[in-house]
Amino acid sequence: MIEIVPLPAFKDNYIWTLRRGGQAAVVDPGEAAPVQAYLSREGLSLAAILATHHHPDHVGGIEELAKGAKIPVFGPKGEPIPALTHPLGQDDRADIPALGASFAVLEIPGHTRAHIAYYGLGSLFCGDTLFACGCGRVFEGTPAQMLASLRKLAALPDETKVYCGHEYTLANIRFARAVDPGNAALAEREARARRLRDAGLPTLPSTLGEERATNPFLRCTEPAVVESANKYLGSRIGDPVSVFAAIREWKNRF
Ligand SMILES: [Zn+2]
Repeated sequence: MIEIVPLPAFKDNYIWTLRRGGQAAVVDPGEAAPVQAYLSREGLSLAAILATHHHPDHVGGIEELAKGAKIPVFGPKGEPIPALTHPLGQDDRADIPALGASFAVLEIPGHTRAHIAYYGLGSLFCGDTLFACGCGRVFEGTPAQMLASLRKLAALPDETKVYCGHEYTLANIRFARAVDPGNAALAEREARARRLRDAGLPTLPSTLGEERATNPFLRCTEPAVVESANKYLGSRIGDPVSVFAAIREWKNRF
């Protein structure tokens, strides 16, 4: 049985740590210190490192953690990932025998050029592409690419647990309520997320079912979301890529 633990890093990052027996793997270690402290406190050995994309708050700790250790460092091919040993693309797999785990790799460009997600154990590690009730900024790709990537993730089963890179949920829900004001599931989600944050707990993981029901960036064909995008632009658009691009830009200014 693999346990998945969030290690908080920086202001609002999570380093997701998978552990089984005395072995552990970490996803997106932006800094080494929280990982080293956890491993030594728990008496765990690091068996693998997985990176979703090249941003420093996701890869900044890799070099120090991998130093002197003969462990695989998985990450996207085509992005500068420190100490990378296994460059991965669509349909590759990340195997971690020490944990008895294997993940399918999905290419999800948009936030960065070659961003990847890891899917396995009913769980999705999606970095800065899909957030709880939101999505990452489109830095290196196009809105069409980002929307296609989000749709690829949204096609996974409802019960898939979503482990994203940041605790942005409450702010994302506030924006989602502006875009999709009649969505009752959003009000419920906000109350639930607030209770968790008030108790000092992460709002993650969420599930893909929950995201499909409440995340405006996965709902670009819903009439209410299309209408809000049109109000924001003061024009009449209807195609999902334009709707996505409009609400993504609106979120940047929100
Ligand atoms: Zn990023």
